[in-house]
Amino acid sequence: MSHQFFIAKNAAPEQTVGYTLRESRYLNITNRCTLRCAFCPKFNGLWTVQDYSLRLAHEPTPAEIIAAVGNPEDYREIVFCGLGEPTLRLYTLLDVVSQIRSRARRIRINTDGLANLVYERDVAPDMEGLIDALSVSLNAQDAAIYEFHCRPPVPGTYEAMLDFVKCARDFVPDITLTAIDGLPGVDINACEKIARQLGVGFRQRVLDEVG
Ligand code: SF4
Repeated sequence: MSHQFFIAKNAAPEQTVGYTLRESRYLNITNRCTLRCAFCPKFNGLWTVQDYSLRLAHEPTPAEIIAAVGNPEDYREIVFCGLGEPTLRLYTLLDVVSQIRSRARRIRINTDGLANLVYERDVAPDMEGLIDALSVSLNAQDAAIYEFHCRPPVPGTYEAMLDFVKCARDFVPDITLTAIDGLPGVDINACEKIARQLGVGFRQRVLDEVG
C-alpha cells in the first residue's frame, strides 16, 4: 500500500472483531482507511456502531478473524466491514475467505472501491469464486461532491472507484453502489442513475447505520 494514504492509529485495548446484526456476521479487520470521510463516526470521535466498539488495539490475524466468524453456517451472510476499509488487508481477507468459503452461504465486502488504486493493479480477478457481493460506497454523483465529503488523499479517486466497479462486474456476481441520504449536495436519484448505467444495484443508506 502506498504510504501516502492515511493510516489511523489504534490504541484501545479491547476489540470487537466479529459482531452480529440481522443474522449476518460482520467482521472488523482494520481501522485503516484510504479516505477520511467527514461524516465517518471515527473522524468525529465515535468508534461505536450500534453498541459495538469497533476500535482495534491491533489488526486481527487470520486465525483471530476465523475465530471471530465462529460457524459460518450460522449466518445468512459474512460481511467484511469496518470501522475501516477491509481491502487494505486484501490478502488477509482472501486468506480467511478461502478457509471459510465452503461453509459460508454468502460473503460480501463493504468497500470504498479503491483497492485498484491502492494496489496499483486490478485486484478484482482475485475475488472471483471467493466473494459473492460487493457494497461499494459511491457516496456522490460527481467528483466534486465526493471529494467534499470523502476527502480522498489523491486526485482522481472518484473515477478510480467507478473504474473498479466496472472491473469487478466480471468477477463478483452481485455489486451494489450505496450513497447516504441527507448529506449536503448528494443527489440520491443521480447516484441511483449511475448505478443503473453501470448495470449494478443501488441502495440508499442511512448515516451511521451498518449494512
Ligand atoms: S471509508 Fe468508511 S470507515 Fe473509512 S473514513 Fe469513510 S466512512 Fe469512515
